Amino acid sequence: MQKLEQLYEGKAKKVFATEDPNVVIVDYKDDATAFNGVKKGTITGKGVINNKMTNHLMQKLEAAGIPTHFVEQLSDRETAVKKVSIVPLEVIIRNISAGSFAKRYGVEEGILFDAPTIEFSYKNDDLGDPLINDYHALALKLATQEEIDLIKKYAFAVNDFLKTFMKGIGIDLVDFKLEFGKTADGTIVLADEISPDTCRLWDEKTHEKLDKDRFRRDLGNVEDAYEEVMRRLMGEQG
Ligand code: UDP
Repeated sequence: MQKLEQLYEGKAKKVFATEDPNVVIVDYKDDATAFNGVKKGTITGKGVINNKMTNHLMQKLEAAGIPTHFVEQLSDRETAVKKVSIVPLEVIIRNISAGSFAKRYGVEEGILFDAPTIEFSYKNDDLGDPLINDYHALALKLATQEEIDLIKKYAFAVNDFLKTFMKGIGIDLVDFKLEFGKTADGTIVLADEISPDTCRLWDEKTHEKLDKDRFRRDLGNVEDAYEEVMRRLMGEQG
């Protein structure tokens, strides 16, 4: 598969065209940003880990009946994916209180919920990704009711799978963010990435943070945390 012109450069990934109009190549960078791009840095090796981890999980999710954009891993940092238009919603699922949830509602981090929660943010950097509900998403024509219903169903199914998978490698899945896309024929598929950049992952015994909060909160050992998740993931494979 040939990499043609660059279509887009985001905070953590670049996207390139291919000869196939329905396929693009994602190239994962080591660049890290937080707080809507205000904090910037590098996490050495992150691009390779996020690429491999995302692909590993997307293939498992696909097998579990959740359609994804994954086509084929091309190299350590590059993957061919279905070309989609991203639905401008950040879909956040939470199992345990943390981050903006804890702050917004004035509760401590680490409270286990009886049932997972779902929330949407309008994906718009200029507005700081404001929290919205289904009615707002419909009013803004970001998606149809049918698409929102499907996205919710898929997001909870991803959580069911991912929570069990992570528990199997000694990790509590605290929360995570998903993005969905629409292919040329209008099919909704899981897109973007599933990595320590987009999930909160706590060691089930020590409660050590094994995710991007180490970067956001200057906790140190950022690379070690990403590598530890990858090691456990690969151990599970072999
Ligand atoms: N998240 C993300 N990208 C964003 C915002 C959040 O990947 O732009 C992930 C984040 O890593 C966490 C979950 O979504 O796993 C919930 O994040 P939260 O709303 O608590 O926001 P934060 O505290 O990260 O600002």
